[in-house]
Amino acid sequence: MSSGNGLLRRLTRPLRVRWRRAQRRGGILMYHRIAEEPCDPWGLCVTPAHFEEQMAFLAERSAAVDLASFATDDAYTPAGGRIAVTFDDGYVDNLEQALPILERHGIPATIFLVGRAPGRQREFWWDALQRAIMESGHLPATLDFPFGDGPRSFTFSETEEERLANATWSADNDDPATPRQFLFLALWSAIVVLTPDEQDAAVDYLLAWAGMPVAAPAGRLPASADAFARLAGHPLVSIGSHTLDHASLTDLSRPRQHAQIVEGHRAVEALMGQRIDRFSYPFGRIDDGARAEIAALGVDVACTSVGMAATIGDNRRELPRLQVTDRGGADFARWLREDHGLLAAA
Ligand SMILES: [Zn+2]
Repeated sequence: MSSGNGLLRRLTRPLRVRWRRAQRRGGILMYHRIAEEPCDPWGLCVTPAHFEEQMAFLAERSAAVDLASFATDDAYTPAGGRIAVTFDDGYVDNLEQALPILERHGIPATIFLVGRAPGRQREFWWDALQRAIMESGHLPATLDFPFGDGPRSFTFSETEEERLANATWSADNDDPATPRQFLFLALWSAIVVLTPDEQDAAVDYLLAWAGMPVAAPAGRLPASADAFARLAGHPLVSIGSHTLDHASLTDLSRPRQHAQIVEGHRAVEALMGQRIDRFSYPFGRIDDGARAEIAALGVDVACTSVGMAATIGDNRRELPRLQVTDRGGADFARWLREDHGLLAAA
């Protein structure tokens, strides 16, 4: 998953988009889940029906290319007519829901796997946090959170009106306005910097506090190692790596960045039994240390979560991607064309 882009980026975006639209360009789409969920603050879910419409549009325009095209100049055209599809994290629905649709329309796609995730019977921590805080009923009035930099205490109360406002909240686009939204973001920021074991312990603690089952709903799990291994050699699916534990690389020392990137990559290569030539930065977070590790790893292409079309001259190991939200085919076409200058002419 990715996190928000910040105020400065939001304010300067129109200028950057206008300049970049004069360049040869192409689009890299970022998906996470093909699923229907009642609550989706990070906009990670596209319904199967909408995904079908989106892929049908790319097929109709003969626009889809493999991400490898962005390692060369091939993907960049004056009308922005070439589009690559990517998925982050390796959720089970990528194979159960998305793959049949990709196959039906002949669309190539890259799935970026977290090294230790395939087959794990736990949700990713951000999904567990979402279940604990955003999808629970009545919450207790106080929370002592004994993880990270030391115990923190939170107090909680909400009105019925506040509770109802949470279902449609977008954490990427809307400032927090209700007690649950503030609590969710505070805990998200506290958990993202913990070690993987601490993250597991923290979300289990929060699920218990919220009166929610600790066991994850099956639809939110990563796909199994076997299911991914069977994709080796698939004509449409390529696999990339996404660190060992979905690490927030900018919060790690260089040795830990190295371990997360290299061990994650080797784990995915071992799983697939082949060289892996692509990577995406968890949460889109990147700094000079992570850049250097990726350059040393020698992947052909790496993706961030900066929400722009890619333009010729972009660093192939730091390519921007457009997060696709849940929208129908016509709206998807309009969004690509009007917001990003892609697939402009029929
Ligand atoms: Zn991710």
